[in-house]
Amino acid sequence: MTESRIAERVRRIKPSPSTSAADRANELRRQGQSIVNLVVGEPDFDTPAHIGRAAAAAIEKGATRYTLMAGTVELRQAIVAKLERENGLRYALNEIIATSGAKSAIYSAFAITLQAGDEVIIPAPYWVSYPDMVLANDGTPVTLACPESAGFKLTPAQLEAAITPRTRWLLINSPSNPTGASYTLDEYRALAEVLAHHPQVLVMTDDIYEHIRFDGQRTPHLLNAAPELRERTLAINGVSKTYAMTGWRIGWAAGPRDLVQALDTLLSQSTGNCCSVSQAAAAAALNGDQGFVTESVAVYRQRRDRTLARINAIPGLSCRAPDGAFYLYVNCAGLIGKTTPMGTQLADDGEVVMYLLDRVGVAVVAGTAYGLSPYFRLSIATSIEALDEGCERIARAVAALT
Ligand code: PLP
Repeated sequence: MTESRIAERVRRIKPSPSTSAADRANELRRQGQSIVNLVVGEPDFDTPAHIGRAAAAAIEKGATRYTLMAGTVELRQAIVAKLERENGLRYALNEIIATSGAKSAIYSAFAITLQAGDEVIIPAPYWVSYPDMVLANDGTPVTLACPESAGFKLTPAQLEAAITPRTRWLLINSPSNPTGASYTLDEYRALAEVLAHHPQVLVMTDDIYEHIRFDGQRTPHLLNAAPELRERTLAINGVSKTYAMTGWRIGWAAGPRDLVQALDTLLSQSTGNCCSVSQAAAAAALNGDQGFVTESVAVYRQRRDRTLARINAIPGLSCRAPDGAFYLYVNCAGLIGKTTPMGTQLADDGEVVMYLLDRVGVAVVAGTAYGLSPYFRLSIATSIEALDEGCERIARAVAALT
């Protein structure tokens, strides 16, 4: 056997489990099976027309060349205005950098700060990419289980116990993928009190789902509760989820000048600036009519309410109502140990998910991927018909267990 040509830090990481689950569902569909795909983590809406028109106009005007590495002044002004208007946070232009999606901002933030062995505190369940991004940058993910009984949220005591001299970052994602849990101002204040004693810890907030929430409330930001953390907080966001713009690849980081400058340097030597046309589209999204956001959130809310009720009516399954994002994180503890019609016992959530796919063609993602079992994640970013059909099939599969 020849030695692998692939670097150790890349061999440590794995492809995204949600992408693998979607691939498997698509493959079965290609083979002619009827599959209800409840895996996807992206809006099923088209990008609003006025945003597309802004992109077309940008092409017409010749905005097809390299831009400033940090992004066009127009886009960064739109981000500055958005942060002030929607979040009550003030940033200067040079404290903002536009990136190719929030994903690139998060990955690059680890790249510019982590020394080998530095620890990143990641509350679980977490977005699948966080631990691998840390590993790929020679860091050590420290995942903390935040059980359903705690609302899937990190407690101050847990945070205090997890911080060591090697802790570099605390990562907060609110509302969360996969649970939809959202921190309140009081909860942020309590976490900030712990952080006050540990000035070496930076905080990354992944705010990508801030607008998708179901109680009509504005999502509070950590910095609203603890402005004193501003100099060590990097606020990550983007247009993918709010404006149904996943393919345009525009995200950003807002934070202290030294971090933003280091991101600029690293990205200037790797990806370069993000797509000029997409930047024009993102500026139009942030500056323009926000009707799409209200309308799409109302649709997500209908789907959430209906699907939640149907799932909670299935014996053996239960789901806490998510505050936001577009997922249900379904507790399947009641199915573990049950026997399938084929005579096998369901030992964990991975087997529950395989059973649902094989038996009734419903594709969801196992809780193991998100660091807290036994659960599965079901996406509501799909039609109400698909959700109804999915719930009906899940109920049928569960009824066949003994
Ligand atoms: N953060 C979270 C929690 C996500 O769920 C996702 C996408 O699934 C992202 C970031 C990535 O967003 P972007 O499309 O801006 O890279």
